[in-house]
Amino acid sequence: MTSMPSFPNRRFSRRSQRRLARVHPELRRLLKAALPHLPYDIAITCGMRTRAEQAALVARGASRTMRSRHLRQLDGTAHAVDTMCIDPDTGRGTWEPHAYTANAIVLKHIAEQEGIPIRWGGDFRGFFDGPHFQLCKGASSHQRQARA
Ligand SMILES: [Zn+2]
Repeated sequence: MTSMPSFPNRRFSRRSQRRLARVHPELRRLLKAALPHLPYDIAITCGMRTRAEQAALVARGASRTMRSRHLRQLDGTAHAVDTMCIDPDTGRGTWEPHAYTANAIVLKHIAEQEGIPIRWGGDFRGFFDGPHFQLCKGASSHQRQARA
């Protein structure tokens, strides 16, 4: 990577921090390390979900599985986060796929440097979930199928 943007003054909002609180420490560490280097500033829109919340998402087609890594895992944390890219011109959230792709390239790069294996939802087959990142580490065979 030739040039990684650097925005040292970026901070997660209190709301984002609260959502990160129940996320696996390695994934949290990765997001904090990556934040100053991401092309687009981000907010965390989801960390852990309850089964009821997940069921509602599946019911309306926003998620495809009840084995989501957003659900509380055996270690008591969530292994997935959803991010929202902030449009630098408006300061508001954007759903432009290119913003998510640009961030994912940098996040994956930093994940590799930090030795934290992750999977990006934009790489899921047949279902582009650009906002979503999840941990690979320790994934058991049944967890490996979990998506979104
Ligand atoms: Zn997600």
